[in-house]
Amino acid sequence: MTDAILVLNAGSSSLKFRVYAVDASGKPGLMAKGQVEGLGVRPHFVARDAQGASLADDSLSKDAVSGHADALSQLATWLRSRYGGTRLLAVGHRVVHGGVKYATSVVVTDAVLAELERLVPLAPLHQPHNLAAIRAVQARLPQVPQVACFDTSFHRGHPELADRFALPETLYAEGVRRYGFHGLSYEYIARALPRVAPEIATGNVVVAHLGSGASMCALRAGKSVDSTLGFTALDGLPMGTRCGAIDPGVLLYLIAEKGMSAKAVERLLYKESGLIGLSGVSNDVRDLLESDKPGARLALDYFVYRINRELGALSAVLGGLDAIVFTAGIGENSPEIRARVCRAAAWMGIALDERRNRAGGPRITADGAAVSAWVIPTDEEGMIATHTLALVGRPAAAAS
Ligand code: AMP
Repeated sequence: MTDAILVLNAGSSSLKFRVYAVDASGKPGLMAKGQVEGLGVRPHFVARDAQGASLADDSLSKDAVSGHADALSQLATWLRSRYGGTRLLAVGHRVVHGGVKYATSVVVTDAVLAELERLVPLAPLHQPHNLAAIRAVQARLPQVPQVACFDTSFHRGHPELADRFALPETLYAEGVRRYGFHGLSYEYIARALPRVAPEIATGNVVVAHLGSGASMCALRAGKSVDSTLGFTALDGLPMGTRCGAIDPGVLLYLIAEKGMSAKAVERLLYKESGLIGLSGVSNDVRDLLESDKPGARLALDYFVYRINRELGALSAVLGGLDAIVFTAGIGENSPEIRARVCRAAAWMGIALDERRNRAGGPRITADGAAVSAWVIPTDEEGMIATHTLALVGRPAAAAS
């Protein structure tokens, strides 16, 4: 019988999944991936095999599949029909916030779930969906162990100064601090460096995770020492629909002078800002690169400007830079954006090799550049699978 683990990443309107087979050595191998998307609006189920061939592509009834529990039922039915002889060892979840307490992934218990529930106000747009998926699995597959893997864990070793706001101590004590996110992505890159780019693995590296969510992380010898994301997933770089760093005085103005409610400000900052807000065109870099509208140009200029600014700041934190690594949807797929960032940082000694950049890396700078630049595809789900297996044990142990 094949053993497998399921990895779930529950968002506001989607349930993304991956199925990994676990061989005798305990290593996860991708079998299938896909998602139930359009939850609550126009639910649709897609699945592909490891090579990308379509396994399912079905429109679902909005009444039958309205939330995460229904999406999980849909997924479970499909998994059973397709992989009936497979034993599910565990389910690993992406959970955005582990707070101060969880510096590593953890097996979910009722006590853990209660603790994670308390963190909902710190990540109101992500955490509730992550926890809904855990509860849906608990209800449907109560005997299957679940593991929560956090986007904050990799940053828990930051020096205290990097985690502080200049606010009174009581607020720090109650958890108002800079947590940093995208940690599963950064951890994957840090683990990949000795294999892909051994010459920089023990050096000072800034990783730019540029996707629909975007942030940058300063790594010293593979350990995170600072990140552009802070208390919530709003700080730092502008993102597809999120504002990035903003003077808090703007929020006071919106509330006090314009009478906006907290909900209205939340909506503005999370959904209507960033690339979509600046451009008025799209939150997708591909659309912006193709558009000739002035707003599209402004949005891309601002995106690159802020990446460059943060690169300078994080390099100063590190006390010097050996390399920059690009990853995630934009970082992996847009030679234009990479080139613009590298050109802006040419003064640091980043000498871009245009041909290597067009080819997609991994190294995209000229030989001998003082600071090298790299493209390394991230694998957050693979990281979750690795953590999950490490906690639930190898199949041999599970069988005994
Ligand atoms: P992610 O959140 O990592 O899946 O990244 C999604 C984002 O990557 C999309 O919103 C696009 O803006 C961006 N993206 C994907 N492919 C490309 C591409 N070929 N060129 C520019 N941006 C891309």
